[in-house]
Amino acid sequence: MASRLVCVRCGADGPLVDGRLCPRCFLETQGPGRVPGSIAVTRCPRCGSVRVQGRWSPGPDDVVDAAVQVLTSALRPWEQVESLEVSGAYIARNPATGSLTLVARLRVRFRGVEGEYEVERAVGLELRNQLCPACFRRAAGAVQAVLQVRGWDGRLRASERRAVEELIASVPNAADAIVEVEERREGVDYKFMDQGVARAIAAKLRSALGARVVESHKVIGRRSDGKPKTRLTISVRLPFFRPGSLALLGDKLVVIESVAGGRVRYREAGTRRRNSMDVEEAWRSLRPLPPEAVEYGLVTAIEPGWIHVQLLGPSMDYLELPRRGTRVEGDVEVGSEVAVVRLGAQNYVIRRDLAGL
Ligand SMILES: [Zn+2]
Ligand SMILES: [Zn+2]
Repeated sequence: MASRLVCVRCGADGPLVDGRLCPRCFLETQGPGRVPGSIAVTRCPRCGSVRVQGRWSPGPDDVVDAAVQVLTSALRPWEQVESLEVSGAYIARNPATGSLTLVARLRVRFRGVEGEYEVERAVGLELRNQLCPACFRRAAGAVQAVLQVRGWDGRLRASERRAVEELIASVPNAADAIVEVEERREGVDYKFMDQGVARAIAAKLRSALGARVVESHKVIGRRSDGKPKTRLTISVRLPFFRPGSLALLGDKLVVIESVAGGRVRYREAGTRRRNSMDVEEAWRSLRPLPPEAVEYGLVTAIEPGWIHVQLLGPSMDYLELPRRGTRVEGDVEVGSEVAVVRLGAQNYVIRRDLAGL
């Protein structure tokens, strides 16, 4: 019989893995093989498929099982190891950072050694949502929400489009949730598979840009249980008013100061009187200033009781506006270019660069 087999590390009798170490000492010093420090699990949010080594395959329902599948494919056992598998796992979340760890129990069998051994490994875990190619192709037919963004007068300006896109980019996961962008003459349609994201974007467009939001549902088929399958259409109309623009409120001219948090703040032109209203009220009561109500001219004289304006428009009228019935917006001096708005007995003289017209 050969000489007694003794582990060089702990002195234990018994089978040695590599002629030197017992299985326990081998695992403690070298581990069962190469185990990645972290893994990323990419799952399709629709069908649960998991991407393993660049290829999509039907995945388990449970995210732990999906992570185990990814980890298993990434294990590289040492040559002394006959089999290495994940026998159990759970996900731990660091409450401070929110980062995830997959704590996996690995079951090891060594070549020429009886029995199984277990060792635990903690692996960083990143969860990613991504549509698998099959679901991506089906997405066009599975659109659950359409966000129709329109300008207030039936066309969407480039600046409005930019503002909308910037806002969408600021909503978490929104850009990924859009499955199609359809350009239309009157605006843009954004298509989503997820109604929640579409609603979140609409809510932000209302709150930050003052958009009017109207939801409607359209039956697009029947589900397997016979209930109607509906598609949500969210009509988002951007307002004519934005910070700096002039608007009519009843018979008064107001300057929009800000749109934020679903409220529109305004100031009566030529005064310091400020007020606010919610977006819906603003849509009901604010009117754009009709272009024909605005005339342009040059201030030619300023007297204590009068402001003189030479109109440059078609009429070329020379106006002597009584101070008492005239509100002046901005610092106006002789030579200033101004917009003149006459509403009933009230005149407004607005420095042209503030008129936003
Ligand atoms: Zn040992
Ligand atoms: Zn899928």
